[in-house]
Amino acid sequence: MDASSSPARPKMPPRLPRSLPSSHSIASTFSPGSSTPGSWTVSPWNRDTPDTSPPSSDAGSPKLQAKQADDSGRISPVEGSLDGQPRFGVVRSVCFVGAGFVGGPTAAVIAYHNPQIQVNVVDLNEERIKSWNSAHLPIHEDGLLKVVRTARDGALNKTLVLPGLPRAIELKQRQPNLVFSTRVVDAIEEADIIFICVNTPTKTHGIGAGSMADVSAIESATRTVAKHAKEGAIIVEKSTVPCGTAQMIQDILRYYRPDVEFEVLSNPEFLAEGTAVENLMHPDRILIGSAQTLAGLRAAAVVKDVYGAWVPAARIVTVNTFSSELAKLVANTMLAQRISSVNAVSAMCEELGLGADVEDVSLAIGKDARLGSKFLQAGVGFGGSCFEKDILNLAYLARELHLDVVADYWLAVLRMNEDQRRRYARNVVRELNGSLRGKKIAILGFAFKDGTNDTRNSIAVHVIKDLAMEMPREIAIFDPGCASAEIREEVEKAGLTASQLERIKILTNWRDCVQEASAVCILTPWKQFRGRKLGSATSSNKKARKLAADWATSCVADKADISEMDILALEELVRDKSSATTGDDPLERLAPLAPCPEECSHCRIGSAEAHDQEPVDWAEVAGMMQEPRWVFDGRNVVNRLELQSLGFRVRGIGKGF
Ligand code: NAD
Repeated sequence: MDASSSPARPKMPPRLPRSLPSSHSIASTFSPGSSTPGSWTVSPWNRDTPDTSPPSSDAGSPKLQAKQADDSGRISPVEGSLDGQPRFGVVRSVCFVGAGFVGGPTAAVIAYHNPQIQVNVVDLNEERIKSWNSAHLPIHEDGLLKVVRTARDGALNKTLVLPGLPRAIELKQRQPNLVFSTRVVDAIEEADIIFICVNTPTKTHGIGAGSMADVSAIESATRTVAKHAKEGAIIVEKSTVPCGTAQMIQDILRYYRPDVEFEVLSNPEFLAEGTAVENLMHPDRILIGSAQTLAGLRAAAVVKDVYGAWVPAARIVTVNTFSSELAKLVANTMLAQRISSVNAVSAMCEELGLGADVEDVSLAIGKDARLGSKFLQAGVGFGGSCFEKDILNLAYLARELHLDVVADYWLAVLRMNEDQRRRYARNVVRELNGSLRGKKIAILGFAFKDGTNDTRNSIAVHVIKDLAMEMPREIAIFDPGCASAEIREEVEKAGLTASQLERIKILTNWRDCVQEASAVCILTPWKQFRGRKLGSATSSNKKARKLAADWATSCVADKADISEMDILALEELVRDKSSATTGDDPLERLAPLAPCPEECSHCRIGSAEAHDQEPVDWAEVAGMMQEPRWVFDGRNVVNRLELQSLGFRVRGIGKGF
């Protein structure tokens, strides 16, 4: 589809409320002496042994010869198929390779807003695919099940007569267009666009272990893509990758399919776990990097058009491929840098001992329009699968470029983060008279942030490890959103001794967790831990709901084609006018969920392991703990004065009093 022939996009409704370092890393090798981007050496490895990594993958990554890369960021000057004009067909089928935290939700939202496009999400992990096809999604995100159900199972036709609308509105039946499967090859063969969303963890062995990105999953997925993609398919790297990976992908494609020109784009994902659906529905920006050639720009226009179904054009940024790859790493590093900066301030507030409060400092500096108020909340530090790995990746690149000061600058963000969580654990031990022997410590929150069930590289596991070294009687962990088995798996990876491990208990409710504890450590800012003011919509949510409802009454009734964005606004209208709780499907248009098979392990585990969602009753906790009752609020979520009035000793982050 040509960008210039794109249909005009509908006016967008207002935002809806949330209801819901070695010496070789990066860019691959150009032919020695070649000045033409794209004419790099064809790798001489044997085509008959397809699973052998290409030579560019020394130590798991493409080689860095960044200085040789073309300044414009061009990857491959692909000239077109017709009269020198590249052509791409109408997008009918899209494939996502990798059904993880990024692939699954992103595919679901693209399918949701593009009912005319078949979206296939494929993964090698059968269990994960089974979950995506059930009522128990592998990822817990507000609003995700509804989006998945709408696209995966379809929606019923419906005549809506709603208060405030001048006429009845007909919602057409929606056919399913989202399929999760393990049929990787079939989905790739069919696809007009292939998004590669596989994991890119930090290398754990060999050259660059502990700092360099392991792109072996990208290589492996690309080999499958190279062998099976149809001519004209656009290959999109969505995973977060070292700068230059698009060239490695192009290299592999050219090796397996020397007679076919593929366009390789970069389209990094900026969603944040915990708010993934909201971020995907209302992205700050969609970034598309392409070769600055006619073919590259046309391919970027095709992908832009897919997002254009719901994202305003002004929010879709197109740049060259390398800028796009680099921007993703820089974005995560700078977000983490802000957290480390405010955490550095928190340490100063605490040590000054003059009553300075980091929350006051954040409030004051956040009013400066140049700084803004977001990401200024001090805490026990950042965790998760992305920030640390992406900082290491960026610093590794800087080191490879002999920019040691730059590398050290970025790595200081990580050093600060580590110091913050160590300082927290030290404070717990110090306040408990320097020893945890015979004491029980309650950990509230294990997920690396609230709103997600992702336990990867959570701060909690590091803090628990430090506390376990003190040999307490017990460390009890409760998280309202994470599966016990996943918490246990992460804890078991922490390198604790058998005797330390056997003192760690994972519980499914906060009462058992805090019972007889000497201290409660809050490590994830779940709203349940605040203990009050829960469940009610925030004022900004209410305002957004009202705006959406107004938009529905003023615009939607006059439209011939009702889009999913319009339907979301109609749902807000129903919520706005209804006093009752309306749930996920206020228009009652979703096809009923198929019942789970009798042997469904999720239902079995779910009924045996229903995680307590009840807000923590701090008055009750006061009666259950050992004296003196300590609360180490690593996320500044509790009301300190209220807890002090209940007899707690409260130590927050960055509170110099
Ligand atoms: P994930 O581990 O949750 O999912 C990756 C999936 O890819 C796994 O299910 C795995 O089985 C599958 N996979 C691996 N190789 C495959 C192959 N050859 N064929 C088919 N499937 C294959 O990872 P994620 O969190 O979704 O992250 C994916 C990428 O997105 C990473 O590069 C990450 O840095 C980036 N990213 C993640 C987030 C986040 O919040 N998790 C946000 C933005 C970007």
